[in-house]
Order: sequence, then structure tokens, then C-alpha cells
Amino acid sequence: MNFNELNLHPDLLEGIQASGYENATPVQAQVIPLILSGKDIIASAQTGTGKTAAFLLPVINKLLQHRNDGQVSALVLVPTRELAIQIGQHLEGLSYFTNISSIAIYGGNDGNNFIIEKQALRMGVDIVVCTPGRMIAHLNMGYVPLKGLQFLVLDEADRMLDMGFQEDIRKITSFLPAQRQTLLFSATMPEKIRTLAKQILQNPSEVNI
Ligand code: AMP
Repeated sequence: MNFNELNLHPDLLEGIQASGYENATPVQAQVIPLILSGKDIIASAQTGTGKTAAFLLPVINKLLQHRNDGQVSALVLVPTRELAIQIGQHLEGLSYFTNISSIAIYGGNDGNNFIIEKQALRMGVDIVVCTPGRMIAHLNMGYVPLKGLQFLVLDEADRMLDMGFQEDIRKITSFLPAQRQTLLFSATMPEKIRTLAKQILQNPSEVNI
């Protein structure tokens, strides 16, 4: 499927083209229309399938149609600092020709970064890509504007649970509006992922690649 068939915003199509993408990968062809239609998603997809753009593109597109000023509109939770940086760069590339703002937030760095992160969060950066522990440190201080949050994405959810982030994920979701779209991606689907999905997704569509 060509990206032109997906009814995406012209500024986003420009970023897709500049990234060198022409056709949607199978996971993108399945997942993008479902997310655009407002569905919650549970998808089993491996790294290398194009799963990152499968959630970034529809989230950016929907935020271009509607977002709440001064609010964090989308939260993308990932297991590691490396993945946060990687997705942050991917996001910058795809959203380059749009006015969507984003930041990658991760633990293990110095206090200067924390201050920069705090400023961006307070102002309501549109999309936040973050590791769970670092996000909770910010959430606990109460300055993150989340009333207008529209999207929660969990990427590599199985790895997050293996790393012991289950409680952190539950804590983070307790800060978020119940009325939101939630997208869960995982390489494997063990029972504990199903349990988590039941807790945080509403009537999800299941996608297996
Ligand atoms: P991911 O599975 O999200 O880690 O993506 C794997 C690689 O595929 C990344 O380098 C992406 O930039 C690239 N990619 C994602 N979607 C497409 C596409 N539709 N066409 C070509 N390359 C893509």
C-alpha cells in the first residue's frame, strides 16, 4: 500500500518522503487505518517490521487534526534509554515538516537534562517518548499537564514487563485520562501482557504480523 492512499496530512507525507519511505510495510498497512479510526490496538510485531512508524504516523496525523494547546497529547513508553533516543530521532524525522513538538526523556543522565525536560513538559510538549522510571520522577512533582492527553503507546511491552516496569506502568496510567486511545506493541504475547492489556486497553483490535 502506498502512503498516498492513507489520507495523511500533506506535511506528514513530506516527512515520509524525506525519510525515503514509499510503501507501507505490512504492519503499517494493518495498524495505521485502525489507529486513524480511533481503535485501541494490541499488536505483536518484531523490531525491523516498521512498527515504530506504524504508531508514530497515525498519532502525528491525528494530533495535526486536533490537539490541546499547552498539554502533553501523547506519551510513548519504552523500556530503554537507547530505544527512547532512537524513537525520538525517528519522530523528529517524520514530523519535521509539521509543527508537532516532541522530546525523548530517559534516566541515567545528569540534572541539567532534568531541568530541560521539566521545562518542555510544563509547556506541554506534544509527544513525549520516555522510560517509565524517569517519567514517574516528573509526574510525582505534579507539573506535567496531562488533562488533554489523547494517546498512550507502550512499545516493546514484553521487555518493559521483563525489566520489572509493571508497577511503574500502572502508576503512570493512574495519572492519565481514562478517555484516551491506547496502543500496545509487543514482540511476544505471554499471559502477563494479556493481563496488562485487559487493564489498560478498551475493546482493542488485535493485530498479528
Ligand atoms: P522499526 O521496525 O520501527 O524499528 O523499523 C525498522 C526500519 O525500517 C527503520 O530503519 C525504519 O526507518 C524503516 N522503515 C519503517 N517504515 C518503512 C517504510 N514504510 N519503508 C521503508 N523503510 C521503513
